[in-house]
Amino acid sequence: MIYADNAATTRISDLAFENMLPFLRDQYGNASSQYSLGTKAKRAIVRSRRQVAVAIGAEPSEITFTSGGSEANSWVFRSIAEAYCSEAVHIITSSIEHHSVLNACHALEQCGVEVTYLPVDSNGCISVNDVKSAIKPTTKLVSIMFANNEVGTIQPIEEIGKLLNERGILFHTDAVQAAGHIPIDVHDLQIDFLSASAHKFNGAKGTGILYKRSGLKLPPLVFGGEQEQGLRAGTENVAGIVALGCALEESVADITEMREKLSDLVKITIKRLKEVIPEICINGEGAMRLPGIVNITVPYVSGEAVMHLLDMKGICVSTSSACNSGKDTPSHVLLALGLTEQQAKSSIRISYGRYNTAEEAEKIVAAVSSAYSKIVANR
Ligand SMILES: *Cc1c(COP(=O)(O)O)cnc(C)c1O
Repeated sequence: MIYADNAATTRISDLAFENMLPFLRDQYGNASSQYSLGTKAKRAIVRSRRQVAVAIGAEPSEITFTSGGSEANSWVFRSIAEAYCSEAVHIITSSIEHHSVLNACHALEQCGVEVTYLPVDSNGCISVNDVKSAIKPTTKLVSIMFANNEVGTIQPIEEIGKLLNERGILFHTDAVQAAGHIPIDVHDLQIDFLSASAHKFNGAKGTGILYKRSGLKLPPLVFGGEQEQGLRAGTENVAGIVALGCALEESVADITEMREKLSDLVKITIKRLKEVIPEICINGEGAMRLPGIVNITVPYVSGEAVMHLLDMKGICVSTSSACNSGKDTPSHVLLALGLTEQQAKSSIRISYGRYNTAEEAEKIVAAVSSAYSKIVANR
């Protein structure tokens, strides 16, 4: 099998796996218990929180563990609505966010919150000037993803952070695709809230983080005990938290090496695909992108058909984000880049990760090329 859908999820790293294993069976203590089985679990959580803090330039007290990226994103939006329930609230976001952000915004709109969805250019890039022009006296939050999950475009986070900090507007970024893949320093970038998810950087599924700048308040997401500073009660997912800390530390340590490796894989893939299918378009080609993502449009050939033909050869790629697949709707991200419905439905995403090789990239190119010929010949 060749797995090239790392933007959907990743295989857990060996190090993260080995470190989490003891906490699934032998070290099963409740981190709130006072005897040593419990305090060992507690210490493991403390260690992981420190690893996360170091990885993103934060303080441990600024990190809360969640069940993943969607939960972290949802929490921020619910909180803003709750915190300003007696005032007019305006939120700025982009049209290419993950559905956990977009659907949170849609829900808030039902409650009277005003939301501006910024457009993107043909590469999927947001303009800082558009952010500036969209600001109103009632703007309480701007939420712009660090990097897009379908085309990989990296947004001008530093400039947006600077602009918002000067105006005293809260800044949230969904960094689920960026964390562990490109360097992040929340203080340098002047980020107030940041979401990340372990299974996108070779941790385990079902664990994520919300970074919240110290001094900022959030209402509790889950009521109960004192876990997570009373913000998200409930017995901690110790094994998942341990894997998250290990995986993030490992990813950040390897960031430069991995970036080079993945960029090389992407470069070979694009070069070879252009040779075998000259009509191919690379979406977001002109933008600064995540190192491992290639999103291609093969004109007039169904992306879904290509995906299934690749699947028959044991190759995993996706038509758009995992959240869209299964529905017959074209990707909202590709439409926002200006693709037609037909073009958006003729697209596939190849996303490389830690375990991919150049040989696999060659096999993917050959498989895409043969799928393309087959589909075109059958017309
Ligand atoms: C995967 C993803 C999410 C959701 O994270 P989960 O941990 O799966 O809930 C949110 N935002 C982006 C950009 C993603 O790629």
